[in-house]
Amino acid sequence: MDLVIDDLYVQYGSSVMAVQGASLNVRDGELVALIGQNGAGKSTLMKAVMGWVGPHSGSVMIDGAAVNDRKFSHLKRGVSFVPEDRGIFSSLTVGENLRLGGVTRRDKKALDADIERELERFPVLRKYWGRGASLLSGGEQQQLAIARAMMLNPRLLLLDEPTLGLAPIIVDLIFDVIEQLRAEGVTILLVEQNAVRSIEVADRTYVLQAPGRVIGSGTAAELSASPAVVEYLGFE
Ligand code: ATP
Repeated sequence: MDLVIDDLYVQYGSSVMAVQGASLNVRDGELVALIGQNGAGKSTLMKAVMGWVGPHSGSVMIDGAAVNDRKFSHLKRGVSFVPEDRGIFSSLTVGENLRLGGVTRRDKKALDADIERELERFPVLRKYWGRGASLLSGGEQQQLAIARAMMLNPRLLLLDEPTLGLAPIIVDLIFDVIEQLRAEGVTILLVEQNAVRSIEVADRTYVLQAPGRVIGSGTAAELSASPAVVEYLGFE
């Protein structure tokens, strides 16, 4: 799945222009990271890809179709989003949360197989299947959020800060899962604060600086050759 963001401007209210002229693309099968400090505009860019905030100008296209077009359906196109707050229903069990991820699907047999696939990937979810989701740790909730997003068998997966506030061992697990999903052919846009790990794991990385401007992009080697990027990220 191809995502193309071209010269995007996004405004909140009448004053805050949170993204100013961002251009980036994610090609089919790629894992692309988007990094930058707090307030750089990363989450806003994700919301623009989901069509939750409209472009003031510029465009967001998925496989050649504009996401803010009324007829565009993220569900039908196979675009799944794991938001920063994870969006878990805390009054439901782990199993109910997972099933809810596939509630729009008609092929219930295939859905069961996909649930099984995610329980293999995240054994802790099998262990806590009947437990209230509010009782899960942050790391377990993040695993549930990713597993739930996978219930739609997405072709494009958007992950907003999936390792934020998690213990190092869980951060390792989440990065392993991200690599695994890419190997399975899922196209991924990953927003992260963990710049070093993201650059390492991604095919390409975009560096965003407030107010939502791309100041560099490329592979690890390409980024480290850019004085502006090195200065912004504070790398040695
Ligand atoms: P963080 O890592 O803190 O989430 P970010 O890079 O994701 O940061 P955004 O959340 O996209 O950045 O915010 C970009 C800018 O837009 C910031 O100046 C922020 O204060 C502003 N902003 C974000 N959401 C809103 C909103 N709903 N209304 C007004 N301003 C907003």
